[in-house]
Amino acid sequence: ENALYVVATPIGNLGDITLRALETLRGVDLVACEDTRHARHLLDHHGIKVPTLALHQHNENEAAEKLIRLLGEGKRVALVSDAGTPGVSDPGARAVAAVRAAGFRVIPLPGPNAAIAAMSAAGLADQRFLFAGFLPAKVGARKTAIAQLAAVDAALVFYEAPHRVMETVAELVALLQPQREIVIARELTKLFEQIERMPLPVAPAWLAADANHQRGEFVLVVSAPPAREGMDAETERVLAALLTELP
Ligand code: SAM
Repeated sequence: ENALYVVATPIGNLGDITLRALETLRGVDLVACEDTRHARHLLDHHGIKVPTLALHQHNENEAAEKLIRLLGEGKRVALVSDAGTPGVSDPGARAVAAVRAAGFRVIPLPGPNAAIAAMSAAGLADQRFLFAGFLPAKVGARKTAIAQLAAVDAALVFYEAPHRVMETVAELVALLQPQREIVIARELTKLFEQIERMPLPVAPAWLAADANHQRGEFVLVVSAPPAREGMDAETERVLAALLTELP
């Protein structure tokens, strides 16, 4: 079927690719990818000889036009990013929107995603969570963003780069309640994978304790804020009262 197939690819371990992803990549006419060299590496690894087209944040609109032209000619196109799920803190969303607006089908092939992998091993997964992705790079904007998230009644999931992880964690400690816990998940699915759960205020010392703790790719999961007993009891009382009024 001529459609845009949005294909999740490994976040480290090359084995993390689905049978359906491989079958689809083999069957398409073109693979649109964030970085052609990166995609070539994955395709070569599986002996797949499909042409590639660069689609990154600087050419996403033009590349989308090309995809739409090809889809119009009845071609099948796949979209991959450098790692994990396209469109999640990665290019793809604009191209997908354009393809959908042009009336073509977009078919997701689910697979690796760093946030979900971290959540699944964090032990906080029975709570609500908010995927915050990367915080702003500028200090002021970053602090504002964290301060706004502080009030959200859910676990928070962040992506962070190694050169900024110390700074970000220090700001989380400064701006979030000290009763919250953090799971630091680094190098997921890779050789030096590490997933550590600790009280949030302890995290800066844990990172500083070993240079290796600051290396690699990070997902930070912060548990939901502690329940405010008083308000919850009041909310419950009001809810109970309202429920008796409902038909
Ligand atoms: N699209 C990807 C996904 O579905 O997870 C995310 C791409 S984003 C540009 C890259 C960020 O994701 C990294 O800076 C890191 O925060 C996180 N990440 C990706 N791979 C990871 C891994 N193996 N371990 C921990 N975090 C990872």
